[in-house]
Amino acid sequence: MSTAYFYFTETLKDFLPRPLRNGRITVTFKGRQSLKHLIESLGVPHTEVGELLVNAEVRELEYITQDGDQIEVRTEARHQPVDLRFVLDGHLGRLAAYLRMLGFDCLYNRHLDDQELAELVAREKRVLLTRDRRLLMRKIIQYGYCPRSLDPQGQLTEVVRRFDLAARITPFRRCIRCNHLLEPVSKEAILERLEPLTRKYFDDFRICPACLQIYWKGSHLERMQKMIDQVVKE
Ligand SMILES: [Zn+2]
Repeated sequence: MSTAYFYFTETLKDFLPRPLRNGRITVTFKGRQSLKHLIESLGVPHTEVGELLVNAEVRELEYITQDGDQIEVRTEARHQPVDLRFVLDGHLGRLAAYLRMLGFDCLYNRHLDDQELAELVAREKRVLLTRDRRLLMRKIIQYGYCPRSLDPQGQLTEVVRRFDLAARITPFRRCIRCNHLLEPVSKEAILERLEPLTRKYFDDFRICPACLQIYWKGSHLERMQKMIDQVVKE
């Protein structure tokens, strides 16, 4: 039997069983065990792990744990994905809509099962957002995040902070319903589809080329801007 000692950063303690949240955690194990395996056996998905220090030296998740190792698990981004595109599981529909409002590429399809979701994430090198830790622990998932909040706006705030999105927010750019990029459209071309007040007060319109939803900078955009300001402030 071998023994290793783990110290987790505060923000990772949400994943640990309650009795283990204070101080050092002693783990006994047999044979060759990677850090990934031991950390996940405590409930923390590898996608949540930032820097790993073993006896004060930086190591990777694949490192084979040695008897007596002192392991510090931090949450700072180990390597950020270059391209921030997301896949959300079937329970995070509101978060998907909010992220699209902010201009981010988000795939969301309630009909995909876990295996299909994981394959999609790996194939397109996207970031998986899910509250399902088991799914995040799959080896093919390179980037992911587990929103702690149950409230969609709280989840949005967490994701913006975790992936440092504030500076990349581009509202009025992407279809909230189907994720396509919007295109400018002349008012004349869609005139008969507009409500009288919209027709009277707005001139700048965009359209989704896929589902033909029309967007304009109306009161919903103001509400959205308020929400964005709130999220960025937090
Ligand atoms: Zn659309």
